[in-house]
Amino acid sequence: MEIIVTVEAMRAASRGARAAGRRIALVPTMGYLHEGHASLMREGRHRADLLVASIFVNPTQFGAGEDLDAYPRDLDRDMAIATAAGVDLIFAPKASDMYPAGYQTWVDVDRLTGPLCGASRPGHFRGVTTVVTKLFNIVRPDVALFGRKDYQQLAVIRRMAADLDMGIEVVGMPIVREADGLAMSSRNAYLSPDERQSALCLSRALARARELYRTGERAVPVLLDAVRATIAAERTAVIDYAEFRDGDTLDDVTSAADGTLLALAVRIGKTRLIDNCLLGEEN
Ligand code: AMP
Repeated sequence: MEIIVTVEAMRAASRGARAAGRRIALVPTMGYLHEGHASLMREGRHRADLLVASIFVNPTQFGAGEDLDAYPRDLDRDMAIATAAGVDLIFAPKASDMYPAGYQTWVDVDRLTGPLCGASRPGHFRGVTTVVTKLFNIVRPDVALFGRKDYQQLAVIRRMAADLDMGIEVVGMPIVREADGLAMSSRNAYLSPDERQSALCLSRALARARELYRTGERAVPVLLDAVRATIAAERTAVIDYAEFRDGDTLDDVTSAADGTLLALAVRIGKTRLIDNCLLGEEN
């Protein structure tokens, strides 16, 4: 496995692969890799001849006062995980190369970025869609893989790729969880042992809603009460949002149906965690 740091070298590697008729897969990440990332990489391995993973903690998707500086980093460990998952090439650019002095161009997706994380993290998705567009332009993959853990992000990137005729297949992958249900996340590293226990309230709340839905409950206010009560049972948990929305449009819904999204963002101490499920589906 090779590490590439400069945009020019990445472009050259991609150009060479394409000239040789090789299909390219890209897995964009912010590093501090875990099994969730590895599952995307293994799928990418099956779908392409050259598997590229990017590691870039993208400053433009962090708001003021968010955890940009604290975001965990461990390139040696990331290399071991990426190698084991079959990655050929890691692209790890510097922020000053991605956003040199004078940078002023942004990609914005409209309605899908309004609710949920778009509402609670202003500017976040503009940073995401801009950096993903840049990565797509540099790596020029045939296929790119994203996790459903970041459900809204996946929906926004699918929309962007279609709307801007990017010609890249966007593949969504299932949420990978720890044995006790906690969705894997690089940010789980922030949690103290007590907080790690409290963090289980997210997956517990999803399970509670799914169970009520399975036994016939369809009224969103009733489902939401159960979700909120499950999270409130953890003293340190503070709900950022807990919402039922249409799984495709992300529009508000008052009645749940198969494919309705339940999306959660919850603060456990200083750590903001997200999780989600689609009702009536195996997740
Ligand atoms: P991140 O490094 O957090 O920006 O995530 C990089 C990619 O990995 C995104 O497409 C995420 O949705 C995906 N991802 C992160 N955690 C998980 C998980 N637990 N299961 C599946 N995909 C994940």
